[in-house]
Amino acid sequence: MYTIVFQLGFKCNLQCKYCRERPLLNDSTKVAVDKYESFCRAIRLGIPKNKMEQFAKTAHFMFAGGEPMMAPPSYFESLLQAEAEAFSPFPIQNHSLQTNLTLLNKGWVEFLKSERHRLYLGVSYDVVGDDRVFRNGRLSNDKVRRNIDTLREHEIPFGVNCVIDSKSLERMQDAIDIFEKEGLDFLTRPPGIEPRYELRMEAQRKGCLYGEEAIQGRGDHPQAA
Ligand code: SF4
Repeated sequence: MYTIVFQLGFKCNLQCKYCRERPLLNDSTKVAVDKYESFCRAIRLGIPKNKMEQFAKTAHFMFAGGEPMMAPPSYFESLLQAEAEAFSPFPIQNHSLQTNLTLLNKGWVEFLKSERHRLYLGVSYDVVGDDRVFRNGRLSNDKVRRNIDTLREHEIPFGVNCVIDSKSLERMQDAIDIFEKEGLDFLTRPPGIEPRYELRMEAQRKGCLYGEEAIQGRGDHPQAA
């Protein structure tokens, strides 16, 4: 399976202490729909015609930010439509969106429900550590947990990922216990460490997302949204 990560922008409502994009979190620029379509057409040009159908079935297109949900669902509708036109008649089957899940609202719930067979949600959820904070320093976890309940209520498929760094390494087992207790498929990743191939494959087998820097998990999962 190919995974192609599209970083659509940098703007984010959080200010995580480990975020590598902190200088850019106020930048509202995002990839224009026509640019995305051009990029998809360029990818298509690189796929041999007799491999296109297989590519469409197995490729995984991942949308990341910044926080992608700062854009309205209509933006993603337009992206997916432009993409489908670029790859017609072989639409890409597997998509995911990596989010901090603090901005879920009714509009997003409806969109995710309607796209549940095509768009998988990857939720960044650090159950240990105190790095994932709003601009005012408040931890984002409670908000994320409530929104996870909403995803479950609406049967919207998702997995979670958790960053483990030197400060939280000794609490890794706590994180695993919490995720298992909450019945969440997850992947932990120390920032900057490349995942081992077999762990990525294991994550896929379990139906979970995985990240460029992912390393370990029971279930497992990309770039912290
Ligand atoms: S949610 Fe992601 S993009 Fe936003 S501050 Fe945190 S790590 Fe950075």
